[in-house]
Amino acid sequence: MDLHLSGSAATDLERQAVESILGPAEPDGSRVIRGGQLERERRHLLLPALHALQDTVGWISRGATDHLAERLSVAPAEIFGVASFYHLLATSPQPPLAVHVCDDVACLAAGAGELLRELEASGVEFERSPCLGQCEHGSAALVRRAGGEQDRIDAAVAPVTAGQVLGFLRGDAVPAPNPAPLGPPTELRALRRAVELGPEGVLAELARSRLVGRGGAAFSTARKWEAVARSPLQPHYVVCNADESEPGTFKDRHLLELEPFAVLEAMLICMLATGSRQGFVYIRDEYPVARARIASAIGALRADGRLGGDLDLELRRGAGAYVCGEETSLFNSLEGRRGEPRNRPPFPVERGLFGRPTVINNVETLVDVLRILTEGGESFASLGTPESAGTKLFCVSGAVQKPGVYDVEFGTTLRQLLDLAGGVRTGHRLQAMLLGGAAGMLVGPSRLDLPLTIEATREAGLTIGSGAVVVFDETADLGEVVLRIARFFREESCGQCVPCRVGTVRQEEALRRLFAGRPLGSREEELGRLRDVAQVMRDASICGLGQTAANAVQSALSGLLEGV
Ligand code: SF4
Repeated sequence: MDLHLSGSAATDLERQAVESILGPAEPDGSRVIRGGQLERERRHLLLPALHALQDTVGWISRGATDHLAERLSVAPAEIFGVASFYHLLATSPQPPLAVHVCDDVACLAAGAGELLRELEASGVEFERSPCLGQCEHGSAALVRRAGGEQDRIDAAVAPVTAGQVLGFLRGDAVPAPNPAPLGPPTELRALRRAVELGPEGVLAELARSRLVGRGGAAFSTARKWEAVARSPLQPHYVVCNADESEPGTFKDRHLLELEPFAVLEAMLICMLATGSRQGFVYIRDEYPVARARIASAIGALRADGRLGGDLDLELRRGAGAYVCGEETSLFNSLEGRRGEPRNRPPFPVERGLFGRPTVINNVETLVDVLRILTEGGESFASLGTPESAGTKLFCVSGAVQKPGVYDVEFGTTLRQLLDLAGGVRTGHRLQAMLLGGAAGMLVGPSRLDLPLTIEATREAGLTIGSGAVVVFDETADLGEVVLRIARFFREESCGQCVPCRVGTVRQEEALRRLFAGRPLGSREEELGRLRDVAQVMRDASICGLGQTAANAVQSALSGLLEGV
């Protein structure tokens, strides 16, 4: 295969970075002799290798791309296509230090607009970032500096002030929590119970629990596991989707940081039930502490002899792409390709990662399995409602007294949830809530008595989604919020299908004209155009991103922004 190299040479540092992932290069000519087959089989290491270059050098040069192309027998154009897909990888020279400051809806609701205005006024160069998953803090920055092991910085700072950001850019020390390595795992009670029950017993207990996925799609977990367990196609894989990127959502970060063994224990149970020997935890790269905790927990399980040999778990880093939360995009990302969603069927349980039957579950869903095994499926199902069994983690952020993660029974109302979070900030009143994140809907105070169940929200034309509830008081500019959501979808669209690629651009353009008081034709014509674009995106987009990109906009225009 002719790789069409650019002829640029990699530096020694770049070669070392690639070697840290791929190992030493084999003697010249071996690729030609074998036709590159063995190298291409290691393509799944492309994203880790790109991370190694980004971490060490700060960007991915042409020389490094050529070198990787030769090492993996993949054309440089394809490698560039992958590297340029992700926000956190650079394909042009960058200063070693980058500060990404969240300007997404939850931080805006908590008042971060002032911080951003101060930074803009100062004239410093900083990156505006979509949600960093630190929403309970009200403002957040991700600080990264490329370099050798000792010089490297990778830290989420939240809450953060404009003064701190200016200081980081001047070279001030960055408070980087360095979580201590974890000791040996505790007894892993649920795993022991799973071994006693055996695969069939685990599947039966799961079916009794009526657990459905907590990532937004609400599909039966038992059916998913069972489909993979019964598939004759081998091998089977288990993937933990920890690419929590829905704006306003941060519950999985808490679980990964605080209960890393629980996440891995649940994966081991899933592997036992489905006959899988290899699992992957795919964590969004904006979560450095979660990453460190999971890496440490995997190390502890290996040291303890519970992992190793042909039974293993591996941590993989995302690289800044909301769409990779979609399960088939995540598989592509793990395989070293652009994180573009695949057409379905086939479904992941039939042909998922590497074309093999795969269970992919969200972090919260997996952790729920532990309780189901230790307390029994029926006990879990006795909570909530028949269609929405058990409990659910909700992420409450924005203009509330006590933002945070709340574990409540399905059926709890929005009002009760807000009360748990201490209610709206003192001296302010509720204007609106964003339910389900950017892919969800904006609702007004009239919805406060809505029970939070899958069926009740569906009946009301809403969604629980990932469990995000972003609260806006009367000081929030909902027009700004809606525009931010429209920009979010325009920026995050992978561009693979026309309805979403063009629709998200047209949606944002029309909103900007409306808010500027310069509609194309009349205001009604512009609103009609927005409705048409929304309909086309919903009906004709390949994946959930395009299908939900107009939800929040339409819900705001039909109720909360009538005066626009
Ligand atoms: Fe990509 Fe959007 Fe199409 Fe999904 S809907 S495949 S994100 S272009």
